[in-house]
Amino acid sequence: MEEAHPTILIVDDQPANIHLLAEALAADYEIVVATSGQEAIELAMAGDPPDLVLLDILMPGMSGYEVCERLKADDWTKSAPIIFVTAKNREEDETHGLEIGAVDYITKPFSMPIVRARVRAHVELKRHRDLLETLSLRDGLTGIPNRRQFEQHLDRCWRLASRERLPLSLCFADIDKFKLYNDRYGHLAGDDCLRSIANTLHGCANRPMDLVARFGGEEFVAILHGTDEDGAGILAERMRTAVEALKIPNKSVSGGAMVTLSIGLATVIPDEQTLASELANRADQALYRAKDQGRNCVVRYVP
Ligand code: GH3
Ligand code: MG
Ligand code: MG
Repeated sequence: MEEAHPTILIVDDQPANIHLLAEALAADYEIVVATSGQEAIELAMAGDPPDLVLLDILMPGMSGYEVCERLKADDWTKSAPIIFVTAKNREEDETHGLEIGAVDYITKPFSMPIVRARVRAHVELKRHRDLLETLSLRDGLTGIPNRRQFEQHLDRCWRLASRERLPLSLCFADIDKFKLYNDRYGHLAGDDCLRSIANTLHGCANRPMDLVARFGGEEFVAILHGTDEDGAGILAERMRTAVEALKIPNKSVSGGAMVTLSIGLATVIPDEQTLASELANRADQALYRAKDQGRNCVVRYVP
């Protein structure tokens, strides 16, 4: 599959300027244009943020400086690199532009080959940053979200749920007798087993705000935003049976002979008095009970 072209948002109140830049860049980039600061902000926030913004400063209404400050202040758009392209050529203008977060500053009249070269360099840097960001949030062994992403997502869901007074559920899952599995089949087979269980659990949660992560070792966690205890119970049971259905032999286990999962779940409606870590503690306590009750089961937290 051919990789999609990076997107460049060109912002200028003069259509002639936009046209000049767009024409020079259209072969290598997807071009989006805005003729006012307000329109630029709306476009940047609407879909995926652009990979680069070429931004005029002197515009009626909202100035380019203000557009830059707003894009940098917003979590969704702050990673989009901004290059000012402007007639303001005093040293203090450029300094100010760079100080408020632009990566580069080009004065008009500009040389098109230099604009192209700078655009290419900054888009390339952005790609590397995006790649690092993605890698830092993935678990190396299984490819699903890692603990860091779990913590970020929990934090985001916590704030959202407390604002909207919605329930938030957490499922802690732990593979049963996995040490014995490693001892009998070896660590490489253990790794394969972890990968297939990770994929299976990841496939069980389908809502956009659901997140399944590898918490560490043979432990997984699911964050279920806007899901009450009964809903979370259904999903946890789906995860448990999905792992059972994999029928991965674990012959060292007395009684059952398959790899199974124990799951503890807890639900809260977040408020200022509770901490996200308290929800995690509760799910963990429920998981301990699931182990006590003979494993391969789902247990809900009760105080
Ligand atoms: P329980 O049913 O009480 O959870 O027993 P358990 O054996 O699963 O629990 P324990 O915490 O004693 O052992 C967890 C084991 O998980 C230890 C280690 O062998 C295995 N493990 C943890 N991380 C990895 C990993 O990245 N790869 C492999 N192959 N094994 C791992
Ligand atoms: Mg464990
Ligand atoms: Mg275990």
